[in-house]
Amino acid sequence: MAKRIAILGSTGSIGTSTIDVVRSLKKEFKVVGLGAGRRWKELAEQAKLVRPATVVIADPANADKIRPLLNNSTELLVGPEGLVELAGRKDSSFIVAAIVGAAGLESTVAAVRAGKQVGLANKEALVVAGSMIVPLSRKTGAQLLPIDSEHSAIFQSMQAGRTSEVCKIYLTASGGPFRTWTAKQMAKATLEDALRHPTWSMGPKITIDSATMMNKALEIIEAKGLFDVDVDSIEVVVHPESIIHSMVEFCDGSVIAQLGTPDMRTPIQYALTHPQRCVGCASRLDFSTVRRLNFEEPDFDRFPALRLGYEVARTGGSAGAVFNAANETAIKAFQAGSITFGRIVGLIEEVLGRHKVDPKPDLDALLEADRWARQEVAKCLKS
Ligand code: NAD
Ligand code: MG
Repeated sequence: MAKRIAILGSTGSIGTSTIDVVRSLKKEFKVVGLGAGRRWKELAEQAKLVRPATVVIADPANADKIRPLLNNSTELLVGPEGLVELAGRKDSSFIVAAIVGAAGLESTVAAVRAGKQVGLANKEALVVAGSMIVPLSRKTGAQLLPIDSEHSAIFQSMQAGRTSEVCKIYLTASGGPFRTWTAKQMAKATLEDALRHPTWSMGPKITIDSATMMNKALEIIEAKGLFDVDVDSIEVVVHPESIIHSMVEFCDGSVIAQLGTPDMRTPIQYALTHPQRCVGCASRLDFSTVRRLNFEEPDFDRFPALRLGYEVARTGGSAGAVFNAANETAIKAFQAGSITFGRIVGLIEEVLGRHKVDPKPDLDALLEADRWARQEVAKCLKS
């Protein structure tokens, strides 16, 4: 029987790749729901293609624009609460969480609360609320299946041994567009520079995160949440070719890696079909074109976000919510041209330094920490 899935964030980079994968595996999946933020035209096009029972547009201002484009049998839900409703509904058993940022938190939590399988691209949800999402998933029986390529690689590699036999996780990083830039050059990098990722084609927020290496910082916290490992056993390795997607070292010294082209359709498909593998539509690795695999140590001086990532992962509690919200707000300011690239991570550090950590926050406290951090960044920008 086809697995019934809903895709939240369907119009984004992960969302559209998910639709590619699902369409290539026709018999295995039925898309029953699509949800997106603002892009109503693309969302309507997708609805024509996959004919879901339900469509959600999070931005109420675009509800009247999309409604006439949907056929009569498609139900339209509106607003962020529509996303939460779709995530929790009984007509799907698999939710692809592909909204960008903390905006995806509540729908991800709703899917976990409903005990579903959750293909998790929305790493920010785990950064903000891993301390509640992971225990909640154990209680409800929800299964968190990583879509982030590194975490998919770790998840796949871990199947070579027992969890208790894992001694180290090598989290690979491309190094982003500024891997070889000096701090001085980076300080003045433009938005266009930051959006020029050398190996991956992704949405703008994660692309900027790759430039500051905040993406890797968020991924350290994500790995800690997903795999319940000690932060000190996670080591970031810069690997500019983005072919090894991460590695796991076992206690006997064996290192197991997962390799592939930088094509998100591979980890998306693995999350969807796990524990099986199917022939899919992702591009294949051709070793006649792979000359070398290089590895470098990360530079914590030029990329202070990495150091902050480790600190926040160790601190836990509400620190992740503040870290993430300050980053999202600083990125928006950079995109708007109100701060330089070089100011992004400094702002995050400033706000983190002022935060009084709540060691055991509930969801409301986390949302409050998120709001507080956004306000603090705004204050810093004013002064
Ligand atoms: P994107 O910007 O391309 O797409 C984001 C999606 O979220 C869109 O469908 C958009 O409509 C929706 N959205 C944005 N704001 C919203 C809001 N307020 N309410 C409801 N929906 C909203 O982003 P992306 O690159 O596809 O990334 C999505 C998530 O996947 C992020 O958490 C990112 O870190 C993670 N991820 C992406 C990649 C990648 O290759 N793109 C790789 C690994 C992880
Ligand atoms: Mg990643």
